[in-house]
Amino acid sequence: MVRSSEFEALLDLSARVGADPALVQAAGGNTSIKEGGTLWIKASGLWLMQARERDVMVPVALDALLDALERDDPATEKAQDFVIAERNPSGLRPSIETTVHALMPQKVVIHVHCVETIATAVQVSGEAVAAAKLSGIPHVFVPYARPGLPLAKAIAARLQPEMRVLILGNHGLAVAGDTVAEASALLAEVSRRLALPRRIAPDADLSALSRLALNSSFVLPEDNLIHDAAADLASCLIAAGGSLYPDHVIFLGRGSFVANPGDTAVSIEEQHRAEGLTLPPALLFPGKGVLVSREITAGALAMARCLSDVLGRIGENARLRYLTDAENAELLGWDAEKYRQELNRAGKALQ
Ligand SMILES: [Zn+2]
Repeated sequence: MVRSSEFEALLDLSARVGADPALVQAAGGNTSIKEGGTLWIKASGLWLMQARERDVMVPVALDALLDALERDDPATEKAQDFVIAERNPSGLRPSIETTVHALMPQKVVIHVHCVETIATAVQVSGEAVAAAKLSGIPHVFVPYARPGLPLAKAIAARLQPEMRVLILGNHGLAVAGDTVAEASALLAEVSRRLALPRRIAPDADLSALSRLALNSSFVLPEDNLIHDAAADLASCLIAAGGSLYPDHVIFLGRGSFVANPGDTAVSIEEQHRAEGLTLPPALLFPGKGVLVSREITAGALAMARCLSDVLGRIGENARLRYLTDAENAELLGWDAEKYRQELNRAGKALQ
């Protein structure tokens, strides 16, 4: 296939954005370009950082998808029915967030789970804070809705053609432009304006963590920043309150597991076994740090790091909007997300 120079530029940008953990973690985040009635969008479950290593873009029939969205057609949940099969030899599925890209009329759309945006968008005051910081940039704040048709409807109800920035409550950021360069500049500007100071976490207590991991299936993570979520007590307290954004739930499960005083990894394993519960991929030991499962997926590891990056930017006294029980449950029970979880478990995302 001969690609346009803009398409090539988008692949370069995708690989760069995808490799920045402050913007994209694991298979989250996606980019798209509209060319000749086709919406090319990152495939579900693949990592944006691979955009230069393998074919990650899936062709979708844009008008058919937009018509279906107008009818509230449930097929838009996965957007799979709108893939142009003869131009999609790899058989990949389009991103579960394809509708976000379709609804923005501009040629290029970049959707990221920018940690600066998330740290703002999980706060009760998030909309007002974003409005103040983004003054002069036409944008819209979209309160949390499950990715897929509910989010598409929430966006459609608020979007004006001149809006090029969407702040997605408890979720992330989407920016659009007529060119890749324009969208890229806007992404840089918005994340710069939303930037928050990060609390300095105390050093993790690695020797205590090694003792707590003894004889268990848990180990110390290689990325030391993962520890911040627990070593910093303010962050740990926020984590204990529940899940704050969808990919946390998809990759790490509902909420965060915070150990009680006296718990060890082995005692936690025994307790879970006795109650017939699945072990969480990460254990937070307040004031000490984090242990991760020996079998943790690359996706869950990236989300554990994201947790530290987000929590460290949330003020200790901030009022937060956690995902509700029902919102957690609908993310874990949703077919399209199960596909993404399967790919993650199979490790296909890293092939
Ligand atoms: Zn997203």
